[in-house]
Amino acid sequence: MLYCHRMTIATHTAVGTVIGLSVGNPLLGFVIGFISHYLLDLIPHGDGKISDQLRVFKKKKMPITYGTIDAITSIFLLLIILNISPEAHTKVFSAAVAGSILPDLLTGLYDLTKVRFLRVFYRLHFFFHDYFIKRWHDVNLSYSLIIQVIFIVCVLAWL
Ligand SMILES: [Zn+2]
Repeated sequence: MLYCHRMTIATHTAVGTVIGLSVGNPLLGFVIGFISHYLLDLIPHGDGKISDQLRVFKKKKMPITYGTIDAITSIFLLLIILNISPEAHTKVFSAAVAGSILPDLLTGLYDLTKVRFLRVFYRLHFFFHDYFIKRWHDVNLSYSLIIQVIFIVCVLAWL
């Protein structure tokens, strides 16, 4: 479920960038980035139908394609940020971005390995991710992606 059950990695990367360029300490940047991931995932972001493809219909093509495009887009985004912002060449930037995207890695590692000590991160992730979706409803994926792209462009413009 790593493929789809999250705000895009690109958006988490953009938030990690803002944190990394706003705090002065790598450990603080990492911790704030890590917490920001769960808070951001609270916002319904339209990935329910992609998730259903995997969970209900056992179809992997769409979730894997979505996840792959997101991962490669995030690498491109990082390359752009590192090129246009000399301030991003710092340990605090790296730590904040790493903290911002780490929860999805831990969730995916648990999904793959079922290693017991990772289960807490897995449960934490879905507690936050599903909190408002269960009580309210999910949003349209297209609108969510448009808003996330606008947010990322705003972060790039801010650099
Ligand atoms: Zn997530």
